[in-house]
Amino acid sequence: MLHNCGPLLSIDLGDRERAEMDIDSINERYIGGRGVGTRLAHERIPFDVDPLGPDNRLVFTAGPMQASTMSFTGRMNATAVSPLTDGLLSSNAGGFMSRNFVDTGYAAVEIVGESEELLAIHVRDDGVEFEAVPKLAGATVSETVEYLDSEHGISSDQTAVIGPGGENEVRFASIMTSEERAFGRGGLGAVLGAKNVKAVTFGGDSAPEIEIPATQQEIHREAATEDHIMKHQGTVAVMDLANEIGGLPSYYFSEQQFEGVEGINGAAVEEKKYKKGTCSACAFACKLPTRDEAAGVETEGPEFEVAMAFGSNSGVDDIVEVMKSNELCDQYGLDAISTGNTVAAYLAAEDEFGNTDLIHETVEKIAHREGIGDKLAEGIGRIHEELGVENWSVKGMDFAAHEGRVLHGQGLSYAVANRGADHMYATFYSVEYPLVEESEALKPEGTLGKAEEVAHRENLMALNDSGVVCKFSRDYMNRERYEALFDASFEELLAVGARTVTLERHFNNQRGFDHEDDRLPYDLPDFEQALEEYYNHRGWQDGVVSDEALPEDYDATAVGP
Ligand code: SF4
Repeated sequence: MLHNCGPLLSIDLGDRERAEMDIDSINERYIGGRGVGTRLAHERIPFDVDPLGPDNRLVFTAGPMQASTMSFTGRMNATAVSPLTDGLLSSNAGGFMSRNFVDTGYAAVEIVGESEELLAIHVRDDGVEFEAVPKLAGATVSETVEYLDSEHGISSDQTAVIGPGGENEVRFASIMTSEERAFGRGGLGAVLGAKNVKAVTFGGDSAPEIEIPATQQEIHREAATEDHIMKHQGTVAVMDLANEIGGLPSYYFSEQQFEGVEGINGAAVEEKKYKKGTCSACAFACKLPTRDEAAGVETEGPEFEVAMAFGSNSGVDDIVEVMKSNELCDQYGLDAISTGNTVAAYLAAEDEFGNTDLIHETVEKIAHREGIGDKLAEGIGRIHEELGVENWSVKGMDFAAHEGRVLHGQGLSYAVANRGADHMYATFYSVEYPLVEESEALKPEGTLGKAEEVAHRENLMALNDSGVVCKFSRDYMNRERYEALFDASFEELLAVGARTVTLERHFNNQRGFDHEDDRLPYDLPDFEQALEEYYNHRGWQDGVVSDEALPEDYDATAVGP
């Protein structure tokens, strides 16, 4: 099986020590990316860790595909215990950092402990440098990136940085790379902030030699030459359809259609797009650099989820206002989905939907934990009662846009996902929207009979995250291509994904998660039975993985902290 190569570099901030460890056996079993990150985290992070304490470990990983020149591979992974969900969580970002990371020669880079002073950590193939950066306290993402470039000649494509959101431990703060790309969901920016790390940079000339099968060229050619709606409108292309079928969360989830959809849909975003945007090596180029000269705003996006959170869910029908919100989140280092949904909860509490001045002001307050922002920075799951609004989250993770009340399999997926109400965990919506090919489409209504497919897609997405292959490659990947690219049977590859999901679940079980956490704030037909089907298929008891059900290869003594 094709897999990542190289050791683990562990950086301890307490004594500023670094250590290298051989993780070949883990690379071989878990490929790279999220698989390797999860396996390492499961073994090296204490089950009772405080996500914002020194013992939490943040591990960056790339996969073997980052040695290719194939489209859909400009991404990489970060894993830690999430301050938002309180469970083990991986987050995936695009941009251009993955190749620079691979150049360090490490398969994984882990950060543990905490520093007394604000640091930038420079990881290169010839060493690690700790730089005190007190002058960057409170700096935005752009200011931090500018500093690294002007002082060190380190480009934004080599950097993972946090903004004030991460420094102030906002529970949904992101880690930003290539300035506008986010390790967004789950608050990993707050994990870095709690460690007093403002930036991590990567570089070198020691990428391992990994031979990638020729199938990569076929996929790359198709991605470059075929037209696709996402090349024009990114993920927001689905917004009109979602609205049409009553599946567009609006006014803090109280409605499912938005009368102002034309102001924030795919066409509205495309009108503001001024050039192509992509991730490294990707000819699909689905990103959305947008600007509005009159308003003086330039950003990337918004994607569908953000157009929902800061648009329909906040009662805003003007794409320029959503672009401003998006840009504030990027600059302050905040997950734009969670920030938008949390602001929408506040607007619901204050009966202020559509008040764009209040929205932008509230984003700033969240980033700096000022006034009401200090409370909102805790996330919907923790503050909904105090606000007097419904809890639109699962395991503390607020909902993504694809509407589980209409796409019932997606709803089931939101309930069982280890990461909470996140759409990318199984991307189940992609087989339930009426637009998919008849032969592949599932009827959106009903949950029975979908549990096995939910588990299959969770495993497949975990495989993509381990490869690392972007999930938007779905129209270009099939069973044969996975087998050719990764040099293994599809069953073996899916088993890697299943092991990863099981380790995440097992870790979370040790922290007290069980079937009570696999709950939705709404009813779905036959939900209890579907949940049972899912557990049975996984071989779990009431949502709990027994020690016996842990992956066979699991050996807690293999590496050790
Ligand atoms: S498909 Fe889009 S998000 Fe995925 S790697 Fe390519 S440009 Fe990046």
